[in-house]
Amino acid sequence: MYKRNAASGVNTTRREWVFKKMDMGAQFRPQDPETFEAIRLFKTAYNTLYYDRIYYRLQKGDNKNFQRIVRAKWSNYSMRAKKYGVSNDLDFDKLLEMYLHSNGKCTHCHIEVGIINLVPDHIRSMYKGGPNTIDNIQLLCEKCNTKKGHRDEYK
Ligand SMILES: [Zn+2]
Repeated sequence: MYKRNAASGVNTTRREWVFKKMDMGAQFRPQDPETFEAIRLFKTAYNTLYYDRIYYRLQKGDNKNFQRIVRAKWSNYSMRAKKYGVSNDLDFDKLLEMYLHSNGKCTHCHIEVGIINLVPDHIRSMYKGGPNTIDNIQLLCEKCNTKKGHRDEYK
């Protein structure tokens, strides 16, 4: 799927285009909560679609992309740990292992959503001083993760 960019005359893929929109969203943070929520839902829906496609590939024996996604989450958490000044000792291989042993089930609601749709969640949020370590991580589905937010529930 291609979208013609009239300004630069360059063809960008739909994915690049959506990511560009997301970057714009980061600069422009609407104060109005409804707009903010709408953007968040859009991002979630887009991510789910993207991960579904990767999961389909994963089922066909391609787990290179899966590792790439987990690594992206892992490095994102390292960055956030530095930002919040909490201890940062999350082992990538252990995180990967946790994913592979989860059988695609959410730790909280036990519904099978597929490993690619699980989100690593800090039991005690880094925002509240929880460490970025494997003991403080659980894999939740998107729904449970959204519901939990920064609270220390679901232990
Ligand atoms: Zn769940």
